[in-house]
Amino acid sequence: MFDNLSDRLSGVFDKLRGRGALSETDVRSAMREVRVALLEADVALPVARDFVDKATEKAIGQEVLRSVTPGQMVVKIVHDQLVETLGADTSELRVDVNPPAVVMMVGLQGSGKTTTTAKLAKRLTEKQRKKVLMASLDVARPAAQEQLAVLGRQASVDTLPIIAGQQPVDIARRAVQAARLQAYDVVLLDTAGRLHVDEQLMGEMKAVAAATSPTETLLVVDSLTGQDAVNVAKGFAADVDLTGVVLTRLDGDARGGAALSMRAVTGQPIKFAGVGEGLEALEAFHPERIAGRILG
Ligand code: GDP
Repeated sequence: MFDNLSDRLSGVFDKLRGRGALSETDVRSAMREVRVALLEADVALPVARDFVDKATEKAIGQEVLRSVTPGQMVVKIVHDQLVETLGADTSELRVDVNPPAVVMMVGLQGSGKTTTTAKLAKRLTEKQRKKVLMASLDVARPAAQEQLAVLGRQASVDTLPIIAGQQPVDIARRAVQAARLQAYDVVLLDTAGRLHVDEQLMGEMKAVAAATSPTETLLVVDSLTGQDAVNVAKGFAADVDLTGVVLTRLDGDARGGAALSMRAVTGQPIKFAGVGEGLEALEAFHPERIAGRILG
């Protein structure tokens, strides 16, 4: 498993006592271990393949420093490649635009979208001193709008008053309008989820985006769903202009495989990580930490 990829890599190389440059044969046998470990951790096959190719290219011919073993050298190369693949920087939200900035949250039902919306609202309010309005566009699940209102009260963040029977695009327009009139800096739109990516859902996402021109569209995915998370991300990325990803339930994910695939599949950075159920359990995403977790 992932836990001891470092040991496995060191094991391969510690059999070799030689110094000098890393040979192609040695690198390739180490990278076989990396590939297996990545696949075991639910990293998507093309992502694992691409990762191994890049790391291999970097490793072959590298001079081994006097202070380290060849195994440690390869571990470092793999570590750096992990950080690069995950995205080397953490990026805050783009909300310093002509107000209101619209942040659209998308994702499947159960991914943690509503909780994450409230967490982000709290963070923007407390850390960036923004005046934030949240609105739930989920008219499919009767309790969804009320759920966001409850979280809003917990987070001391305003939610758009509910008008029964109003449709998602109209709610979104009303939210932006209310924000303009009442001088909110940021509007967070918690869109409807579904059990699967389907045409109806994507149609709704496109219509909401067209009506509100979001500056950020964040895909919320459950890191525990592994390969499914990758397929969900592909589905959304094909139809919606994503600007970032939020990975939830990272507190329960010992492997980090979904994280590694996300950037490659969506072309966008992971901006935040959900690390618990509480409204404060949201962190800026740190590639270094995930790389460390993957290497063990
Ligand atoms: P939605 O259907 O996508 O809106 O999902 P919800 O926001 O209702 O979340 C579903 C469940 O996941 C709730 O019980 C949340 O408390 C829980 N949840 C959300 N994010 C996290 C997280 O980062 N870590 C953990 N452990 N639980 C989370």
